[in-house]
Amino acid sequence: MSDCIFCKIAAGEIPSNKVYEDDKILCFHDLDPKAPVHVLIIPKKHIASMDDVAAEDLELMGYIMTKVKDIAAELGLDNGYRLVNNCGEDGLQTVKHIHFHLLGKRKMTWPPG
Ligand code: 5GP
Ligand code: ZN
Repeated sequence: MSDCIFCKIAAGEIPSNKVYEDDKILCFHDLDPKAPVHVLIIPKKHIASMDDVAAEDLELMGYIMTKVKDIAAELGLDNGYRLVNNCGEDGLQTVKHIHFHLLGKRKMTWPPG
């Protein structure tokens, strides 16, 4: 999608601090970290939000889930972490390209704000 900031990051048109990349997904450090480790995991395919995940995305979404532990291990999150998806207005989603926040290296609180 031409006006999507995360599509531009995935295409290398906007620079990012990359942690992991392959042909399907990209992981990069969040610009405004909310924990000592805060990265974003995105599919390279433009999917606007969790509300837009289709049956054809089953394999891609599952693939992301299998990669989380590898990325967490690479980042040294050996004491646990939090994986977050914000969806829509109430979820406070600001970037309309589906992404998973992976946060760690501090004790999280519950419930989230
Ligand atoms: P959301 O609120 O949509 O769940 O999260 C969007 C996240 O993207 C925010 O944590 C924000 O800091 C991050 N972000 C927004 N624009 C950029 C950018 O251009 N580069 C990077 N690395 N992170 C961004
Ligand atoms: Zn996009």
